[in-house]
Amino acid sequence: MLKIQPPNYKFCPFCGKELRTKLEENKKRKFCPFCKWTYYPHVGTAVAAVIIKDNKVLMVKRKREPFRGTWMFPAGFVDYGEHPEDALVREVKEETGLKTKEAELLKIIQIEDDPRSLGHFCFFYKVIAEGEGLTTNKEENEGIDWFDLDKPPKIGWKSHKEIWSLFGRHYTLKIGK
Ligand SMILES: [Zn+2]
Repeated sequence: MLKIQPPNYKFCPFCGKELRTKLEENKKRKFCPFCKWTYYPHVGTAVAAVIIKDNKVLMVKRKREPFRGTWMFPAGFVDYGEHPEDALVREVKEETGLKTKEAELLKIIQIEDDPRSLGHFCFFYKVIAEGEGLTTNKEENEGIDWFDLDKPPKIGWKSHKEIWSLFGRHYTLKIGK
């Protein structure tokens, strides 16, 4: 289990009153004595697309911190009310211009190096995408390119390095196996 502390909220997000602490099933919980709202810390969700074509992998280059200037799989946070598979299709379109044809869950990793959302889960999918010509979100990325499986670019996120390390194993490259 990762040692990740949830945000230490001091005030009720609904009425603005100061939160108090109570014991619930042997855990300290913050609650609002006015709204009766109890704070149960929970983590976010993100998706990432591992797009491989002709033994090349599609990556984007980060324009912003953290890990500015390093490469990553196209990825993004899941919105409230959105299923991870829908977020995947949306992010692939936004970050590469390609259309998702098939997707299969590859691995779920808990993220420990993203201060924007510590401890969130990233769902990595193998994706078969189609379309001509790459385009990317110019606000988030400063580049997009294909890389040979045995020549990774400089990758920042620990989880994305871990996923790249799977490429030595043939089964990870094919959907449906
Ligand atoms: Zn309140």
